[in-house]
Amino acid sequence: MDAVRIDLHTHSTVSDGTDSPAELMAAAAATGLSVIALTDHDTTAGWQPAIESLPRGLTLVPGAEMSCVSGGPGAWIGVHLLGYLFDPAAEAVVVEQRRLRAQRRSRVRTMAERMAADGLPVDPDEVLGLLPDDSPAGRPHLAQALVRAGTVSTVDEAFARYLASGRGYYVPGADTLVETAIEMITAAGGVTVLAHAFAHTRGPTLSEEAIAKLAAHGLTGLEVDHPNHEPADRERLRALARDLDLVPTGSSDYHGTNKTIALGQDTTAPEAFEELVGQASGAQLVTG
Ligand code: AMP
Ligand code: FE
Ligand code: FE
Ligand code: ZN
Repeated sequence: MDAVRIDLHTHSTVSDGTDSPAELMAAAAATGLSVIALTDHDTTAGWQPAIESLPRGLTLVPGAEMSCVSGGPGAWIGVHLLGYLFDPAAEAVVVEQRRLRAQRRSRVRTMAERMAADGLPVDPDEVLGLLPDDSPAGRPHLAQALVRAGTVSTVDEAFARYLASGRGYYVPGADTLVETAIEMITAAGGVTVLAHAFAHTRGPTLSEEAIAKLAAHGLTGLEVDHPNHEPADRERLRALARDLDLVPTGSSDYHGTNKTIALGQDTTAPEAFEELVGQASGAQLVTG
């Protein structure tokens, strides 16, 4: 019997999810997860509230999803790197995450100003005013403003019409070089997993060769099962993880009502989870 369900990629209101850390922990227990990782974008601010509200029997993996780029001038590709069980007080991580949050807010302000200039009902001060000063603002917050104003009926529609990469209002971020982020999280005792590497609907994706280079650079794992991966993407990534000796994970990337995806929609095998945990030393798992 194998009833252990493990979801290693979720977001709370601390970044661009719609459940508070406490609500997310309660939802995880209610849906029968045994293990949940909290991986808000570019922040560890949700760790403490999640720990304080952890339901009995649920295990929390403290983590973060780092906003990164790969490649070089003229050919940058946006990449998300999941970091788990790293020391949240490691100075390099603290400084870089703070920089990423600040540039997220200025980027969201620029997008909001461009939308407002075109007559869309988005007030830059209001969008940013609804968020804590040091929060990692993101496009979902702009999408919500458009939903509130009735311009679109869903966050997905706001992305499709206005916010996706290639749409008129998209502004790229000044994100961390992915190799640097791997080094930083590893030096802080953590492990790294490349998130939704073949999510083609989000924009250009890394080649298998580029992923092999990241593996040689110390990447620990590869997110194989993800709601944005088609069955063929999953098969290629599973084979790649096997060939490159990367830990294969699966996760929902739950964002509450900002997406139509359920907690635990994709999950990680217990053996893969054990392998990840065994390589980490910067922070502890917490069980309620
Ligand atoms: P940003 O962090 O500002 O680059 O926005 C990216 C975030 O928007 C991702 O982390 C997802 O939460 C969300 N997102 C990306 N693409 C879509 C989409 N097509 N529909 C809804 N949400 C999306
Ligand atoms: Fe997100
Ligand atoms: Fe992501
Ligand atoms: Zn995510």
